[in-house]
Amino acid sequence: MPLISFDGISQPLEEVQNNPARFALHLERAKKNPGYAVCGCKPSSILAPLRLVVRRYGKLFHLARWPDEGAKHDATTCPFFAKPGPLGGSAGPAQDAIRNTPDGLNAKLDISLSVRTVGRVQSSGDPARTSTAGRRAAPLLGFLQRVWGDAGLNQWSGGTQRNWGTCNAQVLAQLGEGKLNGRPIQEVLHVMRRYEETQQAAIKTEFEEFLARIQTTADASERGILIAEIKSIDPSKYSFVVKIRQTFESFFAPKDLIEKAAKSFRYAWSMIGNADARVVAVLVLERTKDGNLRVIDLAVQLCNKAFIFCDSSYEVAMANRLVAEGRRFYKPLRLMPGDEMLPDFVLTDTAAATAIEVYGMESHDAYRRRKEEKQAIYAQRRTPCVEWVPPADLASVRLPAAA
Ligand SMILES: [Zn+2]
Repeated sequence: MPLISFDGISQPLEEVQNNPARFALHLERAKKNPGYAVCGCKPSSILAPLRLVVRRYGKLFHLARWPDEGAKHDATTCPFFAKPGPLGGSAGPAQDAIRNTPDGLNAKLDISLSVRTVGRVQSSGDPARTSTAGRRAAPLLGFLQRVWGDAGLNQWSGGTQRNWGTCNAQVLAQLGEGKLNGRPIQEVLHVMRRYEETQQAAIKTEFEEFLARIQTTADASERGILIAEIKSIDPSKYSFVVKIRQTFESFFAPKDLIEKAAKSFRYAWSMIGNADARVVAVLVLERTKDGNLRVIDLAVQLCNKAFIFCDSSYEVAMANRLVAEGRRFYKPLRLMPGDEMLPDFVLTDTAAATAIEVYGMESHDAYRRRKEEKQAIYAQRRTPCVEWVPPADLASVRLPAAA
């Protein structure tokens, strides 16, 4: 973890991310003058400091990579490192659903944040729908995956563990003072903060302020989006109760929504409550007429213990092993057509990058064809590849030694 310098102090990045309140004043000063914090992952001169953007989110401040400077950071130790390209922080075409701008994220989701409850037939009251005609809209899961990837959370630089505080800080730095469906993102989206005893009251107030903006009046409904780690989803008398970590607040969810989600996200669903895994959710909340908070849409994503995205429980086991062994790797995300041929993981601490494939569902025809296709590509390109075919014991899989 690099040392970060700002306002005359130097602190390990992890400390800054896990204690946003403690460093708020210093970061606020650095944001004003000189306008950035400095990453110490590589020696840099006073004339060309490795700058980090200081972004305000509510009362707190978070660090993000400077636009198009991801490649300047140390590839082996620094979470702000990014290869040039879409993950390097460039904005992308105006019609894209998700764009990284100098102020932060600009996203259009395929749900409405503001709905008229009368005259509903007309259309949603969402300004984003009409003002940016022709712009694509992202589904909830695609949005979460893209934000996680752009925030650098799917790369592992060999540390010991990662907690929710780090995820919160890196996601918020990515969102910045951006826009969601044309609205200020800080008003409509909340990323659950990590529970800290000394910050208990502030965290509660901040969360309540977000929830209070979710309102349903006689003619309109204002919704809110929450990114949090799922603790449990259990049936209650007439619906389901969704509990999230870091808070005692819980939300109701209708039975049909939960049944549909359990099918759509079945790999993540089966791992909820499993201590080897983590499940991150993006929830769309609405207030019912009697004042309760209800989940009206959600997407969930399976992660390993260190919040690296995974596609199956076997991938969780593999990612947990890679973290435990202090390996450097990343999880390629399948966001575009053709991305399904990307490896499950890529080891980056070996002489040449090594693909890791976790093969399963051998009985599935389409899956077997893709496996054969992938194996052919690796052979043709002479890409080193480690294969694991469960139920063979994971411990029997030999990983190449780190260079
Ligand atoms: Zn750095």
